[in-house]
Amino acid sequence: MAVHVINEARRCLQCKKPLCQLKGCPIKTNIPEMIRLFLDGKTQEAGKMLFDNNPLSIVCSLVCDHENQCEGNCIQGKRKEGAAVQIPNIENYISDSYFDRIVLEKAPDTGKKVAIIGSGPAGITIAVKLAELGHRITVFERMDKIGGMMRYGIPAFRLPRNIIDRYQTKLREMGIHFRPNTTIGDALHLDDLFADGYDAVFIGTGVWRPRRPNCKGESLGNVHYAIDYLRNPEAYDLGDNVAIIGAGNSAIDVARTVVRGGARHVTLYARRQRIAASQRELDYAAVDGIELQQGMAIKEFTEEGPIFTPRIYDEQGNLIREEDPVLMPADSTIIAISQGPKDRIVSTTHDLNVSEYGLIVTDEDGRTTREGVFASGDVVIGAKNVVLAVNYSKRVAKAIDEYLKAKKF
Ligand SMILES: Cc1cc2nc3c(=O)[nH]c(=O)nc-3n(C[C@H](O)[C@H](O)[C@H](O)COP(=O)(O)OP(=O)(O)OC[C@H]3O[C@@H](n4cnc5c(N)ncnc54)[C@H](O)[C@@H]3O)c2cc1C
Ligand code: SF4
Repeated sequence: MAVHVINEARRCLQCKKPLCQLKGCPIKTNIPEMIRLFLDGKTQEAGKMLFDNNPLSIVCSLVCDHENQCEGNCIQGKRKEGAAVQIPNIENYISDSYFDRIVLEKAPDTGKKVAIIGSGPAGITIAVKLAELGHRITVFERMDKIGGMMRYGIPAFRLPRNIIDRYQTKLREMGIHFRPNTTIGDALHLDDLFADGYDAVFIGTGVWRPRRPNCKGESLGNVHYAIDYLRNPEAYDLGDNVAIIGAGNSAIDVARTVVRGGARHVTLYARRQRIAASQRELDYAAVDGIELQQGMAIKEFTEEGPIFTPRIYDEQGNLIREEDPVLMPADSTIIAISQGPKDRIVSTTHDLNVSEYGLIVTDEDGRTTREGVFASGDVVIGAKNVVLAVNYSKRVAKAIDEYLKAKKF
């Protein structure tokens, strides 16, 4: 692995205008600098630079959409028969070897208390950035462990859970308090946090309400929602033949998890001809033996399997006609057509505006419509990805810090 990574690093041309970074990376990781430091034997310095720019660097090196981002824009890959530098492998090697040695250089204690609701990428980023600035941080999390969708959504075969465990240890070392199994909007409300002396509150609660197709049969015993299934796949007895509604990246994660659970026939059903998933995910689905059927609009769920209305499209993707409904036999069906936000917090407090989809309304720096309350990540921008949640949260952390400094308490 190490030799391979060094060879890859040596292939970097140290471009003056590095498109991998400038065009490809949503968080503008300084890729040529990372590679230069690494080749100069300054791996720890490179690791620090990566962590300062992106506290979730290890995670992003494994789960970002690299072929459309850094690698996809590497000049080496644009040459005839060329191959992009394997940037994520280099980043992973550096960040992984640095992570356990991180010592957060903290500013002197400001005495200001910040409550963070949710411990996904957004909450972790805010916690790290504000702890660094000397603020006192408590993270409230509904689940028993940190990580959000990184732990309970992205399958472990793509993102090993020990990485998230290491974050939990690291946050504790940084003096960040963690309150597990605590849902804000349940016994404790957002207003209780202010009453107890928190100076600012951050909401990074993500999107955890399954989107429903609103068809008959959704409550049957053999029908499940993707987000519930992925949280704890061992709890499910799905049978041998499993149908999955949806064909985005998350649906493929579900399908590949089902295959690893032992099911022999797994089929993804896409409503349209055009598929939302990336080519790489589709390739993995194919090698895992997962079937894909396009132009199948879900009509009803039954105990014998889902019923679809087949749709015929022309080459431009326009619907030509619908055919008679067909039953596709399956032991279980999993619905994987994205998620929206829950309203636990919003419905138990005041002055927090949401969009028509229930997403929290903020300005570009994460200020909500209620003073002292900030938000970012999926609960603001909808179901997106880790690097966007981190990038946005970096800006929001600055805005919270400015708020804490400016306000006379
Ligand atoms: C199946 C699947 C696969 C994915 N694959 C990828 C991928 O390969 N690459 C990628 O970049 N992204 C991927 N994503 C998306 C990515 O995981 C999310 O965009 C990202 O985690 C959003 O971060 P967040 O912090 O906003 O929210 P989340 O990660 O959802 O974290 C929110 C946290 O808030 C907690 N919470 C919610 N409500 C409350 C409450 N009231 N009180 C206390 N705590 C609360 C939740 O338990 C959770 O821990 C995937 C998502 C799914 C579902
Ligand atoms: S585009 Fe490729 S070759 Fe150029 S700096 Fe980035 S990684 Fe190196």
